[in-house]
Amino acid sequence: MIRQRSNALPPIYLDYQASTPLDPRVAQNLSKNFESCFANPHADDHAFGWEASKICEDASRRLAQTIGGEADEIVFTSGATEANNLAIFGLASRRQSGRHRILVSAIEHKSVLESARVAARRYDCAVEIIPVDTGGHLDLDALDRALDEDVLMVSVMAANNEIGTLQPSPDIGRLCQRVGALFHCDAVQALTAGTLNVQDIGADMVSLSAHKIYGPKGIGALYVRRDIQTLIEPLLVGGGQQHGLRAGTLPAPLCAGFADAAELISGPVAEMELQRVTGLRNLFAARMLANPHVHLNGPPPHRRHPSNCNLRFDGAEAKQLLAQVQPRLAASTGSACTSGSLEPSHVLTAIGLSEDQATSSIRFSFGRFSTTNDVDQASELMLSIFEQSRSQNRVA
Ligand code: PMP
Repeated sequence: MIRQRSNALPPIYLDYQASTPLDPRVAQNLSKNFESCFANPHADDHAFGWEASKICEDASRRLAQTIGGEADEIVFTSGATEANNLAIFGLASRRQSGRHRILVSAIEHKSVLESARVAARRYDCAVEIIPVDTGGHLDLDALDRALDEDVLMVSVMAANNEIGTLQPSPDIGRLCQRVGALFHCDAVQALTAGTLNVQDIGADMVSLSAHKIYGPKGIGALYVRRDIQTLIEPLLVGGGQQHGLRAGTLPAPLCAGFADAAELISGPVAEMELQRVTGLRNLFAARMLANPHVHLNGPPPHRRHPSNCNLRFDGAEAKQLLAQVQPRLAASTGSACTSGSLEPSHVLTAIGLSEDQATSSIRFSFGRFSTTNDVDQASELMLSIFEQSRSQNRVA
């Protein structure tokens, strides 16, 4: 899958939570549709347009079906960053006086935290951060205490992208319903952790992204429950496409590719894939944790995304370790979306790690094309690089 770049050993990709390779089955349909389905799906005067429109409608229906929603509840976006922005800005800007508080967990993705911060300033709301425990689990009692009739929305992700924590989304949904606050769930990482059903978790809005589920980049979606759609102000206005919630020409091939990827991830072999990925992740963790100077950050394996293994290397600089294994091994020191930031990860510090501990941590994430060979080679390589850096530190 991942091509060899030179005559050196083949590279090992362990950064599936940053982005997944395109599944060849999705790629095949995508390239066919890019060639044949070029018409504007909103052109309703000719058969070319009708065909493109049908592809988009089918894609909405197929994507909705995988998460327990209906076709007219899907709003395609450019990705989950836009979906998160639409959920928060959209709701905050049309808020009625009274409900003005936005509650978010301390370990949300930056596209949620920043949207909430900016929306609060623009629309006269207040953002409150609900803490998490050392495993990253939301403090449900704190959420319960904070919830009141003046809460506009609660935004808590289903699965964390850095430490893999799986949140108790149905409990969060129930607590929100009790006071009539809307529940937005960033479920970008959830589809690779098992099935997701918007009814079961009681979510009003759910953000998704195709490139995290072996689909194409450049497309995501916001599920918006039908009866709250009038509460959302669009971010993009123009031709009134997508029930007026997001103007702009739909990229029919990308919509179909997103739906193909979602069907594959929730299809009949999904359970087997989950078990296989969990097995690889557990094997890697066991190998790495045999070294007494390597530690697991975040929740225990059974409450964690199957792909995720976030490890801390005592006394090491994570960025340096990763630089030393280039171009052989891909993993990351935090969310790719905060790359360039010199701050330690807000997720790791929220679960109680010191700045030093946070900057000595690396996220390894496994997926559909990972192999036992990847685990063998990556663990051997990382442990030897780490031991080298420890002995250099001792000499210095
Ligand atoms: N939320 C989470 C939990 C994510 O992991 C990401 C991607 N790192 C995003 C939102 C943003 O998704 P996109 O890349 O589609 O904008």
